[in-house]
Amino acid sequence: ALTTGIVGLPNVGKSTLFNAITQAGAESANYPFCTIDPNVGIVEVPDERLYKLTELVNPKKTVPTAFEFTDIAGIVKGASKGEGLGNKFLSHIRQVDAISHVVRCFEDENITHVSGKVDPIEDIETINLELVLADLETVDKRIQRVEKMAKQKDKASLAEFEVLKKVKEVLEAEKSARSLDLTEDEKKIIHGLHLLTMKPVLYVANVSEDDLLDPAGNEYVQRVREYAAEENAEVIVICAKIESEIAELDGEEKKAFLEEIGIEEPGLDKLIRAAYKLLGLATYFTAGVQEVRAWTFRQGMKAPQAAGIIHTDFERGFIRAEIVAYEDLMEAGSMAAAKEKGKVRLEGKDYVVQDGDVIHFRFNV
Ligand code: GDP
Repeated sequence: ALTTGIVGLPNVGKSTLFNAITQAGAESANYPFCTIDPNVGIVEVPDERLYKLTELVNPKKTVPTAFEFTDIAGIVKGASKGEGLGNKFLSHIRQVDAISHVVRCFEDENITHVSGKVDPIEDIETINLELVLADLETVDKRIQRVEKMAKQKDKASLAEFEVLKKVKEVLEAEKSARSLDLTEDEKKIIHGLHLLTMKPVLYVANVSEDDLLDPAGNEYVQRVREYAAEENAEVIVICAKIESEIAELDGEEKKAFLEEIGIEEPGLDKLIRAAYKLLGLATYFTAGVQEVRAWTFRQGMKAPQAAGIIHTDFERGFIRAEIVAYEDLMEAGSMAAAKEKGKVRLEGKDYVVQDGDVIHFRFNV
């Protein structure tokens, strides 16, 4: 399963956030595809549409979909040279598919900052530099292997060599490989290197309780936003401390607490949705009287593969999918009405599933 790693310097609030994630987290028993590991937190994907569908269909059971966050501890300056938990840290990042980078935007005299002052951009660059240096080593090694073959005019090696040179150049300028505008083909060529700075990233600005309602008043957050904008990365503002308190509450209690502090939804929900999107994940629904359920698929998947997520038999025996877009279904008011209006389509094996599709698969057993 795809996972996003939580990364950040010491004392920025990672553990506090990760605790909130596991507290709020889903029962792993309901999600057998998820990893059971103390460093992995399984979260349900908050999705209004699932509850609207439940109201519409009135099923016996409603099941949200879930995915994973991985807590990656131990980055310090010098990690790429093996400082701290250096190499271990880097190998853990290599295994995740996207990065949620937590930065400290709160002041608190009682909590030491590793570099002596709160400076989120310097923090981001400290970590990015370690990742850049690690990638540079990877790329240099690869260049040594490919260069000889490239000189002998081996076509594949030549193509790879060209991409590697481009990547090396940005890394030497201390920039991330993702900042290069590589074509899909070029990306494929270097995919096997699992470069750390190729992974998509979002920034989590951890602010104080007081700044949560007015993050625009927090200058640190503004700086993170500007930095992120240059990379086309998203910024999620949270207060980790409050999130860990929210995560302990349920139902009405939770609602009351959110109202009291004046926010509509937990910051964690925003983070979950942003991380899900960053991983290239999307949701389709099945809506029967027994069960209304959300399913996670990778964007770009075709109908048979998406059916295979429910059961391998669905993929093997796939015939057709009966599909109505969520919006169309809600507008029509019922499945029957949607059919009458011609909004329910029959799609074949080449159909690319869309986020929000409500699907009934037809298959042979
Ligand atoms: P980590 O080293 O990045 O995992 O950081 P921790 O989660 O252990 O947090 C370090 C310290 O900062 C702890 O004492 C937390 O209670 C405190 N902390 C974390 N988030 C916040 C926050 O949003 N506001 C304030 N004031 N303190 C926080």
